[in-house]
Amino acid sequence: MRPLEELVRPNICSLTPYSCARDEYQGAEATVFLDANESPYNTPLNRYPDPLQRKVKDALSHIYGLRSECFFLGNGSDEAIDLVYRIFCRPGRDNVVAPDPTYGMYGVAADINDVEYRRVPLAADFSLQAERLLEVCNAQTKAIFLCSPNNPTGNAFTAEAIEQVVARFQGIVVVDEAYADFSSQPSWVKRIVDYPNLIVLRTFSKAWASAGVRLGLAFARPDIIALFNKVKYPYNVSQLTQDYALEMLSRRYEVLEWVKRLLDERTKVVAALRLLPFYEKDYPSDANFVLVKLQGARRIYDYLIGQGIVVRDRSRVTLCDDCLRITIGLPTENSRLLAALRQYNGK
Ligand SMILES: *Cc1c(COP(=O)(O)O)cnc(C)c1O
Repeated sequence: MRPLEELVRPNICSLTPYSCARDEYQGAEATVFLDANESPYNTPLNRYPDPLQRKVKDALSHIYGLRSECFFLGNGSDEAIDLVYRIFCRPGRDNVVAPDPTYGMYGVAADINDVEYRRVPLAADFSLQAERLLEVCNAQTKAIFLCSPNNPTGNAFTAEAIEQVVARFQGIVVVDEAYADFSSQPSWVKRIVDYPNLIVLRTFSKAWASAGVRLGLAFARPDIIALFNKVKYPYNVSQLTQDYALEMLSRRYEVLEWVKRLLDERTKVVAALRLLPFYEKDYPSDANFVLVKLQGARRIYDYLIGQGIVVRDRSRVTLCDDCLRITIGLPTENSRLLAALRQYNGK
């Protein structure tokens, strides 16, 4: 890996971060807080939240067996994705590389930050072409985004292919594990110990059933996390979200149960899709959704909308001709989808 100072934008290297009242206070026993111009009236949200979310990170530290300096918490993984650009990529000069198709936010965040976004097609079976990914990198390539399991294809990349990229690329590699709870492949979270250029993203939005709360996690070596903390908004995670996160982390065995049920349902939904007359192909999924190829996918999508059922039309996406992305729901929801599809007569 190139030295971190060489990868980070010079203005971020030299940045003096905003110092908020709760950052400056270090004493242990204070009980009277007259430092932050807050109201004294207990609403009970009159106080600013902990800018570093220490209680949540302590809980995460116990769960993941990593020091709390290895965690960043943000307003969804989308905040962490945006921060990667703002920390490492000089607008108008640097670039990032990612497979195609993949999660759309990497490209949108690149456009917003005026950073060139280089797409490298996945192989026809949606596997990662590590060699080709590395070939399009140059001295201005600051980061590679890998989403595994990948959205919208559903497959997880092999550990060997990811390792080839992480071990050989000299810049930052982001492995987005939004769907890792559903995957049979090993997670990369613990591998931040081995790779100083690795950032792993997780989110409360999928398996943790908490998309509404907006909470995303980044795992990395403390020197990278320190950069995230320097650039983020001081109070980027609200008190409500921090309290909620602690509550959810204590319910993690329930989450495992939900994951198990969704995986069972996924098997059933795929088996039923295969019996449809207009079924062409489904792609192996390591996620809570399945990408399926159907004859006339776009018309089927419109038909389903007419039935009050919304799936995701991915038929215009690279390598995804005639494909719909179907999220696995409750058994009753999946049954309604399948019943509607069985009644579809091509009109
Ligand atoms: C859904 C999803 C996320 C989650 O983003 P949040 O901002 O945390 O809701 C991140 N990455 C991928 C690939 C996703 O599909």
